Amino acid sequence: MIGQVVVFLPLDRSLVAWLTPRADVGDHQRLAIARAGRLVGAQQAVPIQFGTPGSSGSHIRAGGVGYRAVAEDLGRAPSRTKLVALELSSWIDSTASAARWRLIGVGFALIGALLAIAYAVSPVVARSRVSRQARDQAARVLARMGDGVFLVDREGVIRLWNPAAEAITGLRADAVRDRPAEETIPGWDSIAARVPIARQPGDADDASSAETVPLDFEGREVWLSIVGVTLAEGTVYAFRDVTRERRLEELRSEFVATISHELRTPLASLHGAALTLREHGGDLGGQTQQELLDMIAVQSRRLADLVEEILVAGQLDSGSLRVVTESFDPEELVLTVAAAARLRLGDETTIDVSLPAVLPQVVGDAGRTRQVLTNLLDNAIKYSPHGGQIELAVDVDDGHARFMVRDEGLGIPLGEQKRIFDKFYRLDPDHLRGIGGSGLGLYICRELVRSMHGRIWVDSDLGRGATFTFELPIAERVAASTV
Ligand code: ADP
Repeated sequence: MIGQVVVFLPLDRSLVAWLTPRADVGDHQRLAIARAGRLVGAQQAVPIQFGTPGSSGSHIRAGGVGYRAVAEDLGRAPSRTKLVALELSSWIDSTASAARWRLIGVGFALIGALLAIAYAVSPVVARSRVSRQARDQAARVLARMGDGVFLVDREGVIRLWNPAAEAITGLRADAVRDRPAEETIPGWDSIAARVPIARQPGDADDASSAETVPLDFEGREVWLSIVGVTLAEGTVYAFRDVTRERRLEELRSEFVATISHELRTPLASLHGAALTLREHGGDLGGQTQQELLDMIAVQSRRLADLVEEILVAGQLDSGSLRVVTESFDPEELVLTVAAAARLRLGDETTIDVSLPAVLPQVVGDAGRTRQVLTNLLDNAIKYSPHGGQIELAVDVDDGHARFMVRDEGLGIPLGEQKRIFDKFYRLDPDHLRGIGGSGLGLYICRELVRSMHGRIWVDSDLGRGATFTFELPIAERVAASTV
């Protein structure tokens, strides 16, 4: 709850009567409150006939009696209401020599009275301070929360909109606050009808579990998981951005379709080749038999690679994949990967390797680096359906070895260049181009490179090929930094 504490203190005779004994005023002295031309004393209120009570002491006449008065503003100065200490003039006149001292005594009485008021209200002030602290704390918590929170009052007007709500939706608080929710939140009417409203936080019945709804913020689709709780002043809603989870879920279901296709194609080839060999093996020429056997080898390899990719992705998810850190010779690794890839090439594709004269040792996992390079080379071959030149290069820059795989194939549109590293993501999920794949390869590459303290990225122009680059730390740099 965010609120205010207001203290009402009646400035009346009963307050003066309560103060008088506490302020320790003498026999010839009185306390009173001066307000609206009247002096309110402990017993009665009388009009001030002459003079104005002030802080430096003045003569006044009230109710037919003369006084010497010292006054202090109550509340913020200059206030019309004053607390006044009075001393009878008649008594002062009779003891003129001591008058100055009396006045000082009266001043002390006044201070005593003010202290007494402060004492009386201090618990209230303390409570108000505590409540302000609690309010500030609640505001700070709301400001720092990762979940969006907003309050819609009974009239449907948004009264609160926290910074996370701003960040998730892109709608600024000053643009939505004090405006009807249906005008500011796109599609609010239908969303509000779907969002479960609990009577109190954590209501465990099914109706109060969060609803996932899509919202369109200026062409940007955002999926929100949202719940509401009723309050006296309206309904407070809390929501989380689940767009990423939602997207992953969509990709996962695409993946199931993709993977079924990816399994079925090589299996059909294997089955066909095996049947042909069994039924007609004897009648086939030696070359045809060899071709069928080659096809069985290629397709079974493809299946094994696919299964391996799924396994590695699973291990990356569970954090159980082992990556060792050791120094290895990148030159030898690059040459063997290129040689193995050349065996899988058609005539129209070439692989060139370019290496600097001296290549330092690299720190990482040699086996995993080979896996990344092989994957990038396979993609370069696969996504260059008309062949072309593929270049595999390494250079050293600023403490890192940079591995590059450049092709002249299909290329990748700029808008997709980040997402191709996402799990299950494929540019052509329906295999319309006839190029198979699981959408796991680049995800695995990125995770492996990251686990070896490196980074990976792509530069590409659509239709003009792609260059995949990843870098790993070189051994000298690591050795130097550990000294
Ligand atoms: P896939 O198994 O589909 O090849 P990857 O994760 O290896 O999965 O790649 C993701 C997507 O990135 C591919 O579907 C493809 O569209 C695109 N891609 C990857 N490498 C290249 C490349 N060298 N040229 C063009 N597109 C590429």
